[in-house]
Amino acid sequence: MQKKEVDILVVGAGIIGTAVGAELSRRGAKVCVIDKGQVGKGCSYGNAGWMTPCFAMPLPMPGMLIKSMKWLLDPESPLYIKPSFSLDLASWLFQFMKAMNETQAKRAVDALVVLSQKSLTEYEKLGQKYPEIHFQQKGLLMVSQTKAGVAAAVEELNYVKNLGVPGKVLNSGDIQEMEPALKSPLLGGVYFSHEAMAEPYLVVQAFAKEIRAHGGEILEQCELKDLVISGDKVEKVLTSQGEIHAKQVVMATGSWSKSLARLMRLRVPVLGGKGYAMIVPPLEKQPQYPMMLVEKKIAITPRQNSLRIAGTLELVDQDFSITPQRVENIKKGAREFLHLPQELQVQELWAGLRPCTPDGVPLIGYHKNISNLMLALGHQMLGLQSGAGTGLLVSDLLEGKSPFVDLKVLDVNRF
Ligand SMILES: Cc1cc2nc3c(=O)[nH]c(=O)nc-3n(C[C@H](O)[C@H](O)[C@H](O)COP(=O)(O)OP(=O)(O)OC[C@H]3O[C@@H](n4cnc5c(N)ncnc54)[C@H](O)[C@@H]3O)c2cc1C
Repeated sequence: MQKKEVDILVVGAGIIGTAVGAELSRRGAKVCVIDKGQVGKGCSYGNAGWMTPCFAMPLPMPGMLIKSMKWLLDPESPLYIKPSFSLDLASWLFQFMKAMNETQAKRAVDALVVLSQKSLTEYEKLGQKYPEIHFQQKGLLMVSQTKAGVAAAVEELNYVKNLGVPGKVLNSGDIQEMEPALKSPLLGGVYFSHEAMAEPYLVVQAFAKEIRAHGGEILEQCELKDLVISGDKVEKVLTSQGEIHAKQVVMATGSWSKSLARLMRLRVPVLGGKGYAMIVPPLEKQPQYPMMLVEKKIAITPRQNSLRIAGTLELVDQDFSITPQRVENIKKGAREFLHLPQELQVQELWAGLRPCTPDGVPLIGYHKNISNLMLALGHQMLGLQSGAGTGLLVSDLLEGKSPFVDLKVLDVNRF
C-alpha cells in the first residue's frame, strides 16, 4: 500500500484531466493524475477530433422543446432519449427543458466560445511541439441538403460571428467547388475558416508526455474509492493503490461523475451522451475538409490514410453497448452525402459517452463547502475543443488568478 503526498491530485486522465495536469505541471506544481483505466481510453479516445469554436452551442438551445419531444419517440433520430422510468433521467430532462432560454444560451455560448478559442491557440502550440497529433487548421464545412439544414447552419454562424468566429455562407456551387468529394446537389452551408482538427487520443498522449516531462506522475489502473473529508477539506484520497494526500483535488471524471457525486457531497447530474465513431479506409473521392452533415448530425473527419465517421447522441447512464441499428443509421446518413462503397469496411468501431449536464455547460470551479475540491467535468460534445482552455482556467483558479470566463455559468454548485 502506497502513501503519497502531492500538491495537486487530478482524478481522471481523459482530455480534461491531462490538460489540467499538463498546465499545472508546466507552472511548477507537483502533480499526480490517476485513472481507473488507461490514459485517454475514455470518451477522449475516438471522438471526431474537432477543435471548432463555432460549435459552442449547448445541447438545450431555445426552440428545441418540440424537437426534443420528437427524439423521445424516434429511435432513428440522430439524437435519441430512450424512454425509461429513471428518476435521474426525469430530473435531467426537467432541467434540460428549463435551460432552453435565450439568456441561458447566450451566457453559455459566450463562455464556451472563449474556452474553445483559448484551447485552439494552445493546440496550435501543442501541434508544433508534437507533430504526431496531426493538428491541421483547414477550417470546417457545415453542409446541408435541406432549407432547414442551411438555416440551422446560418443560425450557428449568426450566434458566434460577433464573438470572433469567422465564417461565410456558401451556396450549392461554392460547396461543390470546395469539396468535390460531396455528392450533388447540396443546397448550401457555411464554411468556418479558423477551425482545426487533430488525432484526439494522441492529443491526450501529448498532454501526458508534458505532465511527465515536467516532473508530474500518472498512475493508471488507480481508481478513486473515497474522499476522506474533514471539516471543509479533503484530508486524503483513498485509491485502489493506496492513499494520497493532496493540497488540492481536481475531479475530471467525465461521464462517471454522477456515480462519484456522493463522495463529492454534491449534485452532479451528468448523463452519458453515447456516440459512435467508425474508421473506414480512404474513399476513392476522399474528403479534404472536416464536415458536419447538418441534418444527420454526422461528423466526417479526413485522416491521413482513412476517414472517421462519427455521430448520434443517445442519452444513457453508463451503458457502453453498441446498437447495430444506430451504426447503420450513421452509414446510411453519410452515404447520402458521400460516395461510400456498397460494402463499407469498418476498420474500427468505437462508442464513447459524452459527459452531458442538463444545461449543456460544464462544471468548472470550486466546491462551495469543500475548499480544496475543484471540479472540471461535464464537457458534453466539446471536451476536446475546450479541454486545453479548461486546463488554463483551472490552473488560474488554483493560483488565485481572476478567471477569463464568466464563472457563474460554469458554477459547480448550481444543481
Ligand atoms: C462520437 C463522439 C464524437 C465527439 N467529437 C468531439 C469533437 O470532435 N470535439 C470535441 O471537442 N468533443 C467531441 N466529443 C466529446 C468529447 O469526446 C468529450 O467531451 C471528452 O472526451 C470528455 O473528456 P473527459 O476528460 O471529461 O472524459 P473522459 O475522456 O471520459 O475521461 C474521464 C476519465 O476519468 C476516469 N475515471 C472515472 N472514474 C474514475 C475513478 N473513480 N477513479 C479514477 N479515474 C476515473 C475514466 O477512466 C476516464 O479515463 C465527441 C464525443 C463522441 C462520443
